[in-house]
Amino acid sequence: MKLEIREQKTMATKDGSQIIAIEEHYLDIDVDAKVNKMAGGGEKTRKRLLDLGDLRVKEMDEAGIDIQVLSHCPPGAQAFDPKEAQERAPAVNNRLHKFIQTKPDRFGGFATLPTRAPELAADELERCHKELGFHGAIVHGLTEGEFIDMPRFWPIFKRAEALDIPIYIHPGRPHPAVIDAYYKDYVEKYRSILSAGWGFTVETATAGLRMVLSGVFDKYPNLKIILGHMGEGLPFLMWRINHSFGPIIPNQGEMTGFKDIFTKHFHITTSGNFSDSALLCTMMEMGSDRIIYSVDWPYVENTPGTEWLETLSVSPEDKQKILNGNAKKLLKMNC
Ligand code: MN
Repeated sequence: MKLEIREQKTMATKDGSQIIAIEEHYLDIDVDAKVNKMAGGGEKTRKRLLDLGDLRVKEMDEAGIDIQVLSHCPPGAQAFDPKEAQERAPAVNNRLHKFIQTKPDRFGGFATLPTRAPELAADELERCHKELGFHGAIVHGLTEGEFIDMPRFWPIFKRAEALDIPIYIHPGRPHPAVIDAYYKDYVEKYRSILSAGWGFTVETATAGLRMVLSGVFDKYPNLKIILGHMGEGLPFLMWRINHSFGPIIPNQGEMTGFKDIFTKHFHITTSGNFSDSALLCTMMEMGSDRIIYSVDWPYVENTPGTEWLETLSVSPEDKQKILNGNAKKLLKMNC
């Protein structure tokens, strides 16, 4: 089946490798209505986010992406207040599931969670995994101004560990006070300072760091987290962070530092960061078993990502892990 699809298009990888991309977004109609028409990225991006069908598949085929694991773009079900989330969050996930069922060999899903109601979010995570076959969940940026490591959100991590599925920590818009203090002088001329150009990275790297500092991995020692964008800068900063903080968690008599905890619990994707030097740094810090190919479609186009894959100077074994093997293992995909 895969080969037949492949032969109809330009082969993205010369060896015909299967490509699984796991940070690929869409926009649900009810979330769109709730946030009063999603902005960001312009009409071209918006059209693709809303597309669950031909355009999405066409651009996957053109670039050679075999499978997209779909996740809602920010804010997803985090837009719903706890009361409205009870019905609207499951409805969003059910609509995604319905779409995946139309092409189950091309799509998988991450749940969107109503994080403003953490217990409800944990229940929804379980339902989405057990009943809809979703591979985990994605959470975006801040919830009501708070980072996701705060103890009120730990029911989500407790459930994720129990189910042995990962949580993808994805960027969201910086806190208004941060925008005011750090970015406002450049916002008008350079919108990207709040998003992929800089602000998203700072937000999400901070979330990743705070997760380690919070002790959540001591409480839930098998919890698995995914960060996109080649680790949001953290692999590059690993030595310095590790050295500066020193021991973070006293664990069974051994003192555990940032690097030990981060490299045990985090997987990294290549989403929107097709850089050889960033990849090599991440491989050196994390190992090749923890890196998963992703694009960040439609904020980033598919083709530059698969063209980049052709030029990678990594071993064939490592390349297979990055293109599909690590995703299959982490997300328990049978494909
Ligand atoms: Mn993304």
